[in-house]
Amino acid sequence: MAVEADRVISRDLLAWYDLHARTLPWRSPPSAPPPDPYAVWLSEVMLQQTTVAAVKPYYEAFLRRWPSVADLAAAEDAEVMSAWAGLGYYSRARNLLACARAIVRDHQGRFPATAAELRRLPGIGDYTAAAIAAIAFGEEVAVVDGNVERVVARLFAIDTPLPAAKPLIRARAAELTPADRPGDHAQAMMDLGATICTPRRPACAICPVRSDCAAFAAGIQEDLPVKASKGVRPHRRGFAFWVEAEGHVLLVRRPARGLLGGMRALPTSAWNDAPEMDDAPVAADWSIVEKPVRHVFTHFSLDLQVAIARATRANLAEGEWWPIATLSEAGLPTVFDKAARRAMEHRMSLTASC
Ligand code: SF4
Repeated sequence: MAVEADRVISRDLLAWYDLHARTLPWRSPPSAPPPDPYAVWLSEVMLQQTTVAAVKPYYEAFLRRWPSVADLAAAEDAEVMSAWAGLGYYSRARNLLACARAIVRDHQGRFPATAAELRRLPGIGDYTAAAIAAIAFGEEVAVVDGNVERVVARLFAIDTPLPAAKPLIRARAAELTPADRPGDHAQAMMDLGATICTPRRPACAICPVRSDCAAFAAGIQEDLPVKASKGVRPHRRGFAFWVEAEGHVLLVRRPARGLLGGMRALPTSAWNDAPEMDDAPVAADWSIVEKPVRHVFTHFSLDLQVAIARATRANLAEGEWWPIATLSEAGLPTVFDKAARRAMEHRMSLTASC
């Protein structure tokens, strides 16, 4: 009986997908030959923690610049990190390069075709492995991200709180996955979660699987999935140092390991409860911009106070003098881009008041 219900859900979902699939640059239309695994992989890595709208221009720029996984594998680390700047979660860019190089080195430049093999590559987790295997290679494997978790929890009225519900959700998602068109099924689930079965106010009235949805039948769709209460995200403070000399600003390269590793940045103090101006890169007459830059990372929020000073363009043990006029080309991560803009606004306000 349950098998028959699963089959009906999958059939209705695919019929809906055939008419309403989102058109996305990395996708093939419903029932068309599958897309290049490189396109699926690149888009899925970019889409983690980011919206489709934010990803599209990055995806297109990456494909223009590195049209194949071999091209990407041969790129300089710094070039790729700069091209990634603004997408956030920079460890993904480092993993992207490591994965491209592993595919060229160990797999003759071809993506492995099963989720189990893909999972062994750097930076490819269960979700991304399943998405590539199902969408690009037609493997009958469930693809479960946060959107799909929500849809499945509602379809089967699973009220166990997350994350404890994950194994059950995964099992249900696997039962729903058809042998025929598993890639289209996966993308249909993603589209349903993104456009109809949304976190708040799901549009059940136009949902193609409403008649088989247990949460809708019970009127509890907005209460699911249940999430275990989260701890409070810690808050940190720090200084970012804007040192300016003859139209240039001092930039440094962050250590390869750790947060924003390998990225160009403004020099900073440590980020903690009580940051120190002693960490400044040069001795100077610092002025501190009153309003800090607020930025939220995955594991903590940060108030970054921008300290500004003029200096002479001396040779420094660390860092490079970058022309302020072309700072937008330095590939600064978002938090430092915000800090740089705050510094430049402050300079302009001082000039205007003179
Ligand atoms: Fe989601 Fe409503 Fe559709 Fe159920 S009927 S899957 S809750 S949109």
